[in-house]
Amino acid sequence: MASDGVLIALGGNAFAPPGERLSHAGQQAFALATARALLPLLRAASRALLVHGNGPQVGEMLTRVEVAGDRAYALPLDACVAAVDGELGYDLSQALYNVLRAAGDRREICSVLTQVEIDPQDPAFALPDKPVGRFHAAHDVAALRAQGQTLVEDAGRGYRRVVPSPKPQAVIERDVIARLVAAGVLVIAGGGGGIPVQRRAGLLVGVEAVVDKDHTSALLADALDLTLLVLLTDVAAAFTDHGTAAAREIRAATPAQLEALTAAGHFAPGSMLPKITAASAFAGQPGRRAIICSPDNLDAALAGEAGTTVRLAAGSGP
Ligand code: ADP
Ligand code: MG
Repeated sequence: MASDGVLIALGGNAFAPPGERLSHAGQQAFALATARALLPLLRAASRALLVHGNGPQVGEMLTRVEVAGDRAYALPLDACVAAVDGELGYDLSQALYNVLRAAGDRREICSVLTQVEIDPQDPAFALPDKPVGRFHAAHDVAALRAQGQTLVEDAGRGYRRVVPSPKPQAVIERDVIARLVAAGVLVIAGGGGGIPVQRRAGLLVGVEAVVDKDHTSALLADALDLTLLVLLTDVAAAFTDHGTAAAREIRAATPAQLEALTAAGHFAPGSMLPKITAASAFAGQPGRRAIICSPDNLDAALAGEAGTTVRLAAGSGP
């Protein structure tokens, strides 16, 4: 399983097991379990970077801002992403510190708040479609729309705010992240896909949007010239005909094979498709491998016996 450079992306659900109410203690327990599951891979990698999702936590932060009303200052969405990344970065660094030290590993750990530049012309801005935050009653919708929010009705469950999910173009802190990783520091970066920013008259400003962490992970893994990209999620692998009786795990595939399966509509946009796109983009160069699996089958997936492995050709890559 040795790898000289690995990026591990943790699904947002990694902190929030389905059906369980979020709590800070629950997140810390989950961060600890994740750190333990990652220990063998981290010990085998001389360079390692962790990226995590944050969707459910950002939803709760938006609710806090809303419920506080004018009793505490409001935070725009980009600042909510930053605040949650601080919290989850803290949980993860502490859990990794405790697990690594217990294993006699003294490597340094550092969480880097990360801004990602997006293109204001990205087609996502014309079509906000990423639901964030809680459900709202119909009588609250007019006031929220007056604040400039886009709300859509969600399958009879109420109204939800939707925001654009543009593609990340560049990671502002890329060079410092690269220096830390090269120095052997275990870095946590790109939390929640990063804080979306754009350039206006040459200056960075925050944008009310969210970025999919799978795309940011591919961008960072490529920029740092890592050899292994692991996308951990809540399903065992990518499936064809997912959710039907005909569903089958994809054990190994090339980017070209995944492109054909994508064209045939096998991957849901907003969930599995970003992973497939990210894995294919990263593994499109020789000597690289991308894996989509769940934390509990990670070891088997690294051995090619579980999960989905993507590389240029069978037998190529690390
Ligand atoms: P994460 O937080 O890990 O990014 P997502 O919800 O974004 O989680 O993506 C994982 C989800 O993708 C799975 O829970 C599954 O329901 C969904 N999914 C959609 N299409 C597929 C597919 N073809 N194979 C496997 N899972 C799929
Ligand atoms: Mg996702």
